[in-house]
Amino acid sequence: MSRVYDRVALIGLGLIASSIFWAIRRGDLAGEVTGYARSGATRDTARRIGLCDRVCDSAAEAVAGADLVILCVPVGAMGQVTADIAGALKPGATVSDVGSVKRAVIDAVGPHLPEGVHFVPAHPLAGTEHSGPESGFAGLYDNRWCIIVPSDQSTDPDAVARLRALWEGMGANVDEMDADHHDLVLAVTSHVPHAIAYTMVGVADHLRRVTESEVVKYSAAGFRDFTRIAASDPTMWRDVFLNNREATLDILGRFTEELFVLQRAIRMGDGDHLYEYFTRTRAIRRGIIEAGQDTDAPDFGRAAKRP
Ligand code: NAP
Repeated sequence: MSRVYDRVALIGLGLIASSIFWAIRRGDLAGEVTGYARSGATRDTARRIGLCDRVCDSAAEAVAGADLVILCVPVGAMGQVTADIAGALKPGATVSDVGSVKRAVIDAVGPHLPEGVHFVPAHPLAGTEHSGPESGFAGLYDNRWCIIVPSDQSTDPDAVARLRALWEGMGANVDEMDADHHDLVLAVTSHVPHAIAYTMVGVADHLRRVTESEVVKYSAAGFRDFTRIAASDPTMWRDVFLNNREATLDILGRFTEELFVLQRAIRMGDGDHLYEYFTRTRAIRRGIIEAGQDTDAPDFGRAAKRP
């Protein structure tokens, strides 16, 4: 894979940014990658582990001369970070992001960008429950989807095509989607499942005081997977729910209705309903495995995927 950009700047140096850096290096996709994180501790860690070719002490310094700037901070911080770098952006540069919500990010980032800068939002559908600069790895995006969500400021086909080439070079499959549709799809596939996991772990946490650690001790089945999801970064997820409120509430409402139907079937002893329902959901799981988005290996093969 040949170089897609001469210079890439990563703003925020957590799981997603560090995985981008290692994937860019693996594919030799950019000449130089600069990086910036707001805390000195994160910048020190980045320097120590060789994350980025150059770690800068200001966001403006990191983006100066960059052909592509990727915002890798929580969704609620995107607007302020863009305001901080706007004056230092190179004319003709592309700004992108990796935020898990797209409409709110477009509304927060777009107004700060100067004329002549392209804005091509994106969202890699890949992650782990870990965060921070040491959690990234080159293979995070392999065979995962990255959704590009063109904005009013991404009318230049070349800017979109180059960003697509970068994500494909990092191993991802790329799709394009409208921002509102993206937010609805992600509410179903990611945001509400996280809300449910957070809630279930909260319920068990409450119960644990009664059963004295049995919940933890016997957690090996379904509960353990809820705890993995519910260990995700609190700042990131607070921002996701605050910024994808409409779609999340819509899907949560539907979830609650389904839950009541299930609850009633259990109460009425309606085994046929339960069997038919679980047969349908099992088929969805099979579809995900057949699409290569997970494995049927024990523990979902997660241990095998980590470096
Ligand atoms: P992370 O590991 O927690 O890293 C977040 C980075 O953002 C850190 O460098 C942090 O700086 C910086 N940051 C936090 N709050 C900030 C603020 N108010 N102003 C400026 N910088 C701030 O997070 P991540 O998992 O890489 O997530 C980054 C983005 O990717 C988020 O928008 C998230 O929605 C999206 N995303 C995440 C996943 C996932 O599964 N994790 C998947 C797809 C997309 P310090 O280290 O200095 O505190």
